[in-house]
Amino acid sequence: MRYISTRGTAPALDFRDVTLAGLASDGGLYVPEAWPRFTHEQIAGLAGLSYVDTAARVMAPFTAGVLSEDELRELCAAAYGRFAHAAVTPLVQLDHDHWLLELFHGPTLAFKDVALQLLGLLFERFLTGSTEHLTIVGATSGDTGSAAIDAVAGRSGVDIFMLHPEGRVSDVQRRQMTTVGAPNVHNIAITGDFDTAQALVKAMFNDRAFSRRFRLSAVNSINWARLMAQVVYYFYAAVRLGAPGRPVAFSVPTGNFGDVFAGYVGSRMGLPVAKLVVATNVNDILARALADGDYSSRQVVATPTPSMDIQVSSNFERLLFDLGDRDGAALAAQMQGFEASRAMRLSNAQRDGSAALFAPERVDVDDMARAMRRACDDAGETIDPHTAIALAAARRQAQVGVPMVTLATAHPAKFRDAVERATGSRPPLPTRVGDLFEREERYVTLDGTFDAVSGYIAARAAARD
Ligand SMILES: *Cc1c(COP(=O)(O)O)cnc(C)c1O
Repeated sequence: MRYISTRGTAPALDFRDVTLAGLASDGGLYVPEAWPRFTHEQIAGLAGLSYVDTAARVMAPFTAGVLSEDELRELCAAAYGRFAHAAVTPLVQLDHDHWLLELFHGPTLAFKDVALQLLGLLFERFLTGSTEHLTIVGATSGDTGSAAIDAVAGRSGVDIFMLHPEGRVSDVQRRQMTTVGAPNVHNIAITGDFDTAQALVKAMFNDRAFSRRFRLSAVNSINWARLMAQVVYYFYAAVRLGAPGRPVAFSVPTGNFGDVFAGYVGSRMGLPVAKLVVATNVNDILARALADGDYSSRQVVATPTPSMDIQVSSNFERLLFDLGDRDGAALAAQMQGFEASRAMRLSNAQRDGSAALFAPERVDVDDMARAMRRACDDAGETIDPHTAIALAAARRQAQVGVPMVTLATAHPAKFRDAVERATGSRPPLPTRVGDLFEREERYVTLDGTFDAVSGYIAARAAARD
């Protein structure tokens, strides 16, 4: 399998190099040269397989030429052995047609562990025996940072610099990042919002000299391997609910469009996906883009769902590329237009293509809180605010007889204050996070400027000769 850039001019890479690279050198994102297709029989053959075996089957076409299915299975067994639930991503039934897919049983209590625990092992495997040193630079609205840090803390050959917007992540999220003592972990709080942090990271990647000198690598969902790992649970859940014999719908709380794009990939691979509900909070650039073709960035509004407080969704570019006839030159022009004016229109082909599968929904704070209370009252389930946005959207889009799966992306204890405000009860932290509130925090606060942040990193990262 080869990977090509959405902007058409960066060199094609194999799975190893695409995993280590992150952003393509032409500013685009890597996607598989062609989507692998599973037949009806191949999907039926996933019935009854464990999560780890499903993962190896589903990902094998993407790693072909670099990792065999057996090698993948071994890595998955190690990555998912750290999850607190034997099913890794269990389904919980809410009522006749509604299910939750619990993705938060990993070490840092959010769905990002599913991809990042595997990515940490992939980095280690690809760097073992080489003299290469990676500098991972990332921006986080909370969950990516803790999951990435957990996945690479103490591993050799890698330093991680994680930027988070000061004061905009929950106390649990911040402590999960800042109380990790490993010397290769560097936490940076920046003044500004998440989009500022993400733009700084992008600027460092786009600075070719800087990027090459420190061998920058990404753990944000611009990294293809992360999306690949997320495709697995769409298969795992759909097969348990009757696929390939019957279609299944998913509702996905969306920020950077990574998780829902993985559902799109599943559908391109042959999984019968009836609908992908793209659930946003009031930061609704994606809902507007999919409903009206208007992809224009507005001021970010801080909400109880910080992982969705985003007005530039990096992975949306992958969808636009695929729906725009995979025309890299046209997409590069479209994205450059967006980068200059913070606004663009989707083409007719992009609009028609997305309308067939995606159902956009914008959910405000009142509907979010109502969904949290209803899950408690009707089904005895405590859900986190991000999950609640998607569940509220799922209820609007449900069709009789089609199983609707809401992706539960964070453990409610990760957002205890918001859960308590909505439901009146405070979810306890699971024992596996231990003494989070007793441990010492370690981080610096920097101005959200390129010079401040790149200077800090340059003084601490390992440079190439
Ligand atoms: C990251 C995150 C999201 C958004 O996922 P994207 O892949 O960025 O769309 C939603 N909910 C939670 C809890 C998250 O951590």
